[in-house]
Amino acid sequence: MRADVPGPSAGGVEAVSAPKNTLAQRLARMGLVRGWDFLLHLPLRYVDETRIVPILSLQPGAPAQVEGEIAAVQVSVRKRRQLLVRLRDEGGELLLRWLHFYASQQAQLTPGRRVRALGQVRSGPMGIEMMHPQIRLVDDALPLPDRLTPVYPASEGVSQAWLRRRIGKALQDTDMTDIVPAELRRALGLIDLGAALRLLHQPPSGLDAAALEAQQTPAWRRLQFEELLAQQLALRQARARRRHVGATPLSGNGRLTEALRKALPFSLTADQCKVWQEIEGDLSATVPMNRLLQGDVGSGKTIVAALAAARAIEAGHQAALMAPTEILADQHFQRISQLLQPLGVRLVWLAGRSRETQRRAALADIASGTAELVVGTHALIQESVRFARLGLAIVDEQHRFGVEQRLALRQGQNAPHLLMLSATPIPRSLAMTYLADLDVSVIQTLPPGRRAVRTKLISGARREQVLEAIRREVAAGRQAYWVCPLVEENDEIEAMAAVRMVAETRAMLPDLRIGLLHGQMSAAEKRAAMAGFAARDIDVLVATTVVEVGIDVPNASLMVIEHAQRFGLATLHQLRGRVGRGSAQSTCVLLFDEPLSELARARLRVLYETNDGFEIARCDLRLRGPGEFLGARQWGLPMLRFADLERDASWLETVRQSADRLLHDDPPAAQAMIQRWYAGAAQYLGA
Ligand code: ADP
Ligand code: MG
Repeated sequence: MRADVPGPSAGGVEAVSAPKNTLAQRLARMGLVRGWDFLLHLPLRYVDETRIVPILSLQPGAPAQVEGEIAAVQVSVRKRRQLLVRLRDEGGELLLRWLHFYASQQAQLTPGRRVRALGQVRSGPMGIEMMHPQIRLVDDALPLPDRLTPVYPASEGVSQAWLRRRIGKALQDTDMTDIVPAELRRALGLIDLGAALRLLHQPPSGLDAAALEAQQTPAWRRLQFEELLAQQLALRQARARRRHVGATPLSGNGRLTEALRKALPFSLTADQCKVWQEIEGDLSATVPMNRLLQGDVGSGKTIVAALAAARAIEAGHQAALMAPTEILADQHFQRISQLLQPLGVRLVWLAGRSRETQRRAALADIASGTAELVVGTHALIQESVRFARLGLAIVDEQHRFGVEQRLALRQGQNAPHLLMLSATPIPRSLAMTYLADLDVSVIQTLPPGRRAVRTKLISGARREQVLEAIRREVAAGRQAYWVCPLVEENDEIEAMAAVRMVAETRAMLPDLRIGLLHGQMSAAEKRAAMAGFAARDIDVLVATTVVEVGIDVPNASLMVIEHAQRFGLATLHQLRGRVGRGSAQSTCVLLFDEPLSELARARLRVLYETNDGFEIARCDLRLRGPGEFLGARQWGLPMLRFADLERDASWLETVRQSADRLLHDDPPAAQAMIQRWYAGAAQYLGA
């Protein structure tokens, strides 16, 4: 139940004091700055403190509140230290149990005291009990609240009690005028916004907490619609802004693009030809291209990107290719150099860790226009980088908020065309109709000759099987990746784990050449490790998830992932995509720890059953539940907190039309709605 420390805090009216600086910072991190931010911070669930039930009528499995007198208190040390309190009312007796408790808590709970206990009822070894109940001391007549108690998403240092008071204040002094036109509300049966907010934050007693939590009540529906509309308005606004800036049309004579296609050791697949045509069309227009090139891992996006770059260059402009990590940027640089350098294209490398003299030379070449294609990391979008005539920006696997806007904005009058590459699927119909601001090209089929990667789920206890498989692959002249456990997204600890693991692996496989790759290595070390693996000087590459994106070593045919249940499905799919790139049958081994929870099992089974990134994304969404739209979130769209594009699909057409109408009839109102939903967060995100 709640984490509140026990104390006589109910009902009292305390002044809401100005938050201290540190509190304000913590709140800002949660996106809570203005009144509207607080109003839109909706409860996760509710606790019913409005009723007291007799102990005799308690049912295991449900939350309840009881009131009674403390009959006995005991600190037991059997098995583990715990605080046991017997609470008695007119009809019965109940055990309250704490495994974690403070001395101050214990001191308040003396025999004879009258208290209210609120918690989940369960049947324990000594009858019916509550574990870690929330306690209120009942000194005099303590009135019961007349509203359900909301429980908010909180973080350390921001208490529920404080949030409730602050949100209560926001409900009183924030203008909650409904912006959705009355006629539309009537047509859709939507209730008034202010009424919905009051009801969600302070539901009157008698409402069913469980029904509210299911988020399907009229009040929730009202907020969900509002959110979809606000998101659509924000997307429209971004699109309109972009339409205002022009772009230089890039139509080349085919000098480079034709030569490149001829030089390839393979011919483009039908899908690659189709998306290249779409991109070619966009590039020759006077509005900046804003296109997402989507294709599952290994579908051959890089060559299409190289063609686009060649087109920009033959049209007399510069192109930039930005990748999220230095390893990936470096690999692009190597591969695209191989393709374009023989054709006379001048390439330049720019990354955060470039040496100063190198960096200065690169910047000078970029500014003078000598550099025709610049490949690098986020270093490309820093202030000091000035392009002479950037015509095309390509962003590979980018998941970061606002990068594309910044790239586009830097260029003054004419914006560069923008091509984004991603293996993260956004359902296509959705991206095209709803996302409004983005055109989408899809590569559906993989290049010919690929064999689907076989996926195996193996218990971590049976790791000899894995060692055997590695020996087999290496004996056959192939290579393996061994991915270390994910460590709470902490690069440093993860790197340490990787170092430890490489030592263990060397001990277990003494005859094999084992390499190491992790995020804390220097750029040169990483490059050496990758080069060694690509040149087959390394048999097994022990690595953290830095190998996740884009790495392409076709001779690698085995991917082993440790503690697979800790990874997200999208990451696992990406990792698996590192093998199956050559002609050999490839295998991905997901090592899991037992016992595996029901959910973890279901998630891993998805990977076992399908290789289709789109299907995996759909299952991921379903297993994670509403509110987590993978693709949209990764694309830095205004994220949906309450609405759900799949569940609320039947509204989307109406939302689009309503956004059109509102923008046409009442632009200030549209602006106000965008402000309500996004201004606070945007400020915080620095967007
Ligand atoms: P993605 O970036 O979409 O994951 P890549 O561009 O890295 O995929 O391509 C994966 C591999 O497929 C590369 O080794 C590439 O050379 C190869 N490839 C790309 N297009 C074709 C094609 N049309 N025919 C054969 N192989 C191809
Ligand atoms: Mg790629």
